[in-house]
Amino acid sequence: MSRSKLLVVAVIIALVAAFFVFDLRQYLTLEYIKGQQAAFQGYVEANAVSAALVYFLVYVAVTGLSLPGAAILTLLGGAVFGLLWGVVIVSFASSIGATLAFLASRFLLRDWVQSKFARFLKPINEGVEKEGAFYLFALRLVPAFPFFVINLVMGLTPIRTRTFYWVSQVGMFAGTIAYVYAGTQLARISSARDIVSPGLIAAFVILGLFPILAKKILDALKARKVYAKWTRPPRYEHNVVVIGAGSAGLVTSYIAAAVKAKVTLVEKHRMGGDCLNTGCVPSKALIRTAKLLSHIRRSKEFGVRSASADFDFGEVMERVQSVVREVEPHDSVERYTQLGVNCVQGTAKITSPWTVDVTLGDGSTRTLTTKNIVIAAGARPFIPPIPGLQGAKPLTSDNVWEIRKLPARLVVLGGGPIGSELTQCFARLGSKVTQVEMLPRIMIREDPEFSQLVMKRFRDEGIEVLVNHKAKEVRVANGEKVLVVEHEGKDKLIACDEILCAVGRVANTHGYGLEELGIPVTRQKTVEVDEFLRTIYPNIFACGDVAGPYQFTHTASHMAWYASVNALFGRFKRFRVDYSVIPWATFTDPEVARVGLNETEAKEKKIAYQAFTYGIDDLDRAIADGEAHGMVKVLTEPGSDRILGATIAGEHAGDLLTEFVAAMRHGFGLNKILGTIHTYPTLAEANKYAAGVWKRSTVTQGQMEVATVFNRWTRGEASLVNVLGKLFALKDKRPYYKPAEAHGDD
Ligand SMILES: Cc1cc2nc3c(=O)[nH]c(=O)nc-3n(C[C@H](O)[C@H](O)[C@H](O)COP(=O)(O)OP(=O)(O)OC[C@H]3O[C@@H](n4cnc5c(N)ncnc54)[C@H](O)[C@@H]3O)c2cc1C
Repeated sequence: MSRSKLLVVAVIIALVAAFFVFDLRQYLTLEYIKGQQAAFQGYVEANAVSAALVYFLVYVAVTGLSLPGAAILTLLGGAVFGLLWGVVIVSFASSIGATLAFLASRFLLRDWVQSKFARFLKPINEGVEKEGAFYLFALRLVPAFPFFVINLVMGLTPIRTRTFYWVSQVGMFAGTIAYVYAGTQLARISSARDIVSPGLIAAFVILGLFPILAKKILDALKARKVYAKWTRPPRYEHNVVVIGAGSAGLVTSYIAAAVKAKVTLVEKHRMGGDCLNTGCVPSKALIRTAKLLSHIRRSKEFGVRSASADFDFGEVMERVQSVVREVEPHDSVERYTQLGVNCVQGTAKITSPWTVDVTLGDGSTRTLTTKNIVIAAGARPFIPPIPGLQGAKPLTSDNVWEIRKLPARLVVLGGGPIGSELTQCFARLGSKVTQVEMLPRIMIREDPEFSQLVMKRFRDEGIEVLVNHKAKEVRVANGEKVLVVEHEGKDKLIACDEILCAVGRVANTHGYGLEELGIPVTRQKTVEVDEFLRTIYPNIFACGDVAGPYQFTHTASHMAWYASVNALFGRFKRFRVDYSVIPWATFTDPEVARVGLNETEAKEKKIAYQAFTYGIDDLDRAIADGEAHGMVKVLTEPGSDRILGATIAGEHAGDLLTEFVAAMRHGFGLNKILGTIHTYPTLAEANKYAAGVWKRSTVTQGQMEVATVFNRWTRGEASLVNVLGKLFALKDKRPYYKPAEAHGDD
């Protein structure tokens, strides 16, 4: 704990202790103030200003220190200052005192609580940021909720101090009047029950419920307002119309059909969307061939003197397409029709909150009426506005699958997952690849050592990786493309046959009715949705890449469940989309897979953690496979086995990660992973060894000393007295093994 925090704690403890040691509480009882009422009143008449000031300061101190007695002080205020001045003084003093208590709790405890319970608090923080003022107001209206508890708890949340102050003052106003008024009738009060009768409490509860009800009504009115200019059809043909048959749209319609909803799925291009046709499936098929070629090149490492590959790039790309065709039936019209989904091939346009026009292949248009709409229109490659780039007809993840001639020299723009996977593929297939990234390293979302691992491998394989290089311009002359990049203030020219642009993907938000309906997009240019995946029209939902914030197939299908269930059953129960445990992998060689926090993020978010790393170069199976490289890095809460995040680099890292995903999702820690039998010899043992690294960090000097003397005793080399004596050594909590790095503020 920092010095300033220690000082604040010391002052608070001293003041609270003084209150109890000097028994100041006796002055804050009903009997005492009733007994002294005449004396107080006399003093106030003679010294009105100083009496008000002293009363004000005492009130602020009592409430600021969360001491008992605020209610009695309020009564006293009414008794001696009267209703008007009593209310004015108490209203300000109680709000200022509450804010001091709030600030103390925030200063001393918020960081600790927020980092300790980060995952649990995330939705609460989001809720408070959005509607905290509102709920604080409701709580303040009901004096039945303890005043000091609200102050201290609110201090732990992200609510702004200014908001806390004014909402408290306004919210407590009615209660203040009631108590001060009771104070003006002090002589008639003999117990707390006389101040707030059950009837009065009921009135306050109704008052507290009022803003919540008012909000519900306002929400309903707001929803009505967005619908006001549209004419609702008398009946709906569908429960839901889904736009786009990628991962998000397929799962949305599948779930709807499974619960017997009437659902139409509209796809303008190919069933399966990006993942099947231009994303995950073709890229992984190409990676497989590239890997085979890399193994052939490494044949000597496996004891094979020579091995060579005779292949044609066009045939490799045809194999990729045959893989796509083999997977295609999973996402086909036939399969989904059998599942109960009405599949329509055409371009959808939302024309009102309840109607979707579909332009069919023959140019005709069909209008579908529907109770709900789910937008799952996906994303497309982003082409940055670099002069000359468009004109150079760059390859993208959309069209690269169509080429049948291997570019001899390829420039890949972008060091993200797609750019990195394709960089390595093309290099292994025989292109001379230059990867250009303007940031200091590729795979920037991962911790630096993981980027370095992949960059080193790329360079070892002959790839030129240019980081801190900014693409400025593309020139085309004599069939040759030249990329101009800027590095440390100087321009450099890179000649190539093709440029593959992989600098990110942008959501499809144009041309299908969002503009006409006024559905806003976010700063990231995705469709704006709330935590239930609703747009500003509560019956129009969005999921998958079009809504973000993640762009993976598994997040698209995860979101699809929420979109479908909330659309169909939201009137009874709505589910907030849960992004708490999201895994992902980049399928370079070595693969890099992550779930939860890494160190970079933990530091940025000031979350305390300990990091434990196990090097896979030590793992029997990895050595046998000739893949002894990579690492497992796990972040835990300090002093606990609770996993905050894990990153794995190495062979099959994407598969290995699942154990950590399950642990985080279902709340078991490294102890349980360590206690699980992992088949020998497998790569999965790496996870267990990483848990072992954590376990070793918990072993103390004291425990080892006791173990040593105990074993000596069993061998007859030490006496029982020695053993018992050593039990005191258990106090020595210094780590026995070299401690893992601990970070954070504790
Ligand atoms: C090269 C590459 C590799 C990838 N690898 C992985 C990976 O390994 N793992 C992973 O998890 N993710 C990967 N992804 C990402 C993954 O493909 C996407 O996150 C996922 O496909 C998103 O699904 P979606 O349903 O949101 O969108 P999409 O799959 O893009 O589907 C949207 C569909 O909507 C249709 N559509 C759009 N507008 C209309 C309209 N007006 N009317 C009718 N239809 C319309 C489109 O034609 C499209 O078929 C990869 C992506 C790429 C490009």
